[in-house]
Amino acid sequence: MGKKFKLCSKRKVILIVGSIIVSISAVISTINIRYGYSLNNYENYRERNSSNITITEMMNKNLAKIEKGPSSIDNKIVYITVDDGPSRYTDEIIDILEKYNAKATFFLLENNMKRYPDKVNNIINNGNKAGFHGVSHDIHELYKNGASARKEFEVNQDTFFNITGETSKLIRLPYGSKPYTPCEVYNDLINCGYRIWDWNIDTQDWKLNPNQIIENVKINSENKDEIIVLIHEKQQTVECLGEILDYLSNQGYEFKTIDQNQIPQNFWSNNLYK
Ligand SMILES: [Zn+2]
Repeated sequence: MGKKFKLCSKRKVILIVGSIIVSISAVISTINIRYGYSLNNYENYRERNSSNITITEMMNKNLAKIEKGPSSIDNKIVYITVDDGPSRYTDEIIDILEKYNAKATFFLLENNMKRYPDKVNNIINNGNKAGFHGVSHDIHELYKNGASARKEFEVNQDTFFNITGETSKLIRLPYGSKPYTPCEVYNDLINCGYRIWDWNIDTQDWKLNPNQIIENVKINSENKDEIIVLIHEKQQTVECLGEILDYLSNQGYEFKTIDQNQIPQNFWSNNLYK
């Protein structure tokens, strides 16, 4: 009887341990599916195109749809990204952001960092984040080959470090990571550890007037819970930035900066927030 009881207990223990292992595996595979863009996956992910989509990615897409559910005002996130600075408008942009309790990510050009070092520090000291936008801003120079692109961002890195004592892995490629950036250049930069970010709302503020810029944001943010808004350091942008931030805030968006370790959203990896 005692022996039988012991056997039963052993079996029970084996059963319990077994089910725990099965449960843990299930949780791990769910995490893998849910957060499929782990760093290793990401390296592979960017190699594949949409016609070569894996089961995990398909499930990921479906899960995202299910989890999204009805548009929730609590989960809306906006990343304001500011290109081509610093400039004479930087401090004003920072002040406007401050008014709306918003922070932004600034992608800085070499010559402008050298010209306005105080503004680079102002960006950082006010809780905003910085990344790089190159030296030449010329597709024929920057994208000549991997070495030319690496060099530009190394120079950016050195200048930024000399001014702030900080480093950054974030990059916004001039004119976006597609279509001008050759695959070799993209891969070289990724292999150097840079995080390349594009956008899913192009305000086209470099050529539009304030009303058109605002309209652009309104139309293109419709039904999107996560948006990366591209703006530039321009007079017309400064004129309407307050209204844009006011609108997004009223729509329930939370302003966030891009984190150094966040998986980058870009045209090559085809994983931009839809
Ligand atoms: Zn630019």
